[in-house]
Amino acid sequence: MYIGAIEAGGTKIVCGIGTASGEIIDRIAFPTDRPDGAMARIEAFFKEKPIAALGVASFGPIDLDPASPTYGSVTTTPKPGWSGFDFVGALRRAFPVPIGWDTDVNAAALGEATWGAAAGLASCVYYTVGTGIGVGVYAERRLVHGLVHPEGGHVWPRRHEQDRYEGNCPYHGDCLEGLASGPAIERRWQAKGSELPADHPAWEMEAHYLAQAVAGTVLLLSPGKVILGGGVMKQSHLFPMIREGVARRLNGYVSHEAVRERIDAYIVPPGLGDNAGLCGAVALGLNALGGGPANA
Ligand code: ADP
Ligand code: ZN
Repeated sequence: MYIGAIEAGGTKIVCGIGTASGEIIDRIAFPTDRPDGAMARIEAFFKEKPIAALGVASFGPIDLDPASPTYGSVTTTPKPGWSGFDFVGALRRAFPVPIGWDTDVNAAALGEATWGAAAGLASCVYYTVGTGIGVGVYAERRLVHGLVHPEGGHVWPRRHEQDRYEGNCPYHGDCLEGLASGPAIERRWQAKGSELPADHPAWEMEAHYLAQAVAGTVLLLSPGKVILGGGVMKQSHLFPMIREGVARRLNGYVSHEAVRERIDAYIVPPGLGDNAGLCGAVALGLNALGGGPANA
């Protein structure tokens, strides 16, 4: 049985075919054009492929409330043509199969909980630190929705005392995303993150912000694992700095051995690597079919 998977990101859309065990056997990627262009490429890719269901992991914000008249649409985005676009509706018209739909980061959390770093655990939190910062929450074996969906990239950290950068979130200025996303690093230091050496002060500042976010998440949700992905986390030296910063802030208060003794195995990169989102979309498709690998 094959599941169609779509990972729709701000810069590119990835389409893939996955198996029930989460293996990706075919894929294509193209830039996130306007919706009509994207739909044409999506239809061309899946046409005549024997998919039993589709899973869609989308950039947000999106409408996830099945009772809402605009369920399945992208809500407020500056991306040309996408604001208000009925993504699930367009897919339904093209493909008569069950469709699973969630945020890219919720999907990645589900993928990791199904086949990745949190496999077998009842909970995990997935952060992506890239063009933006997004947070997916899997708790009690379900993806967490709510009024809309978690938006943990926009919480406010305490500022680093040497940080004079005003922050670039269009809504909040110096929220976490405004201070610690890839573009924030680039504007603060006038250089791309990938070009800054490991001993550059940028990374101590970055770890200052991310460690606060992760410590807050551990206190608020008590997840079984915290997974940090996205382009910025390719700087693997950030992991020990963030772990140390989390342990120092929690200061022994969260008395579980996962945090106190095995934090190296608690705050980790995605087990599925760059496939976390696409595998998550496969898991969403399996859930839409019913009897999937986990309940979303
Ligand atoms: P997106 O968030 O658009 O889906 P990414 O997760 O790749 O894509 O994030 C892109 C951001 O991550 C850019 O701001 C880029 O500068 C930054 N980035 C990508 N690779 C690295 C790297 N190796 N080191 C530091 N920053 C990186
Ligand atoms: Zn913000």
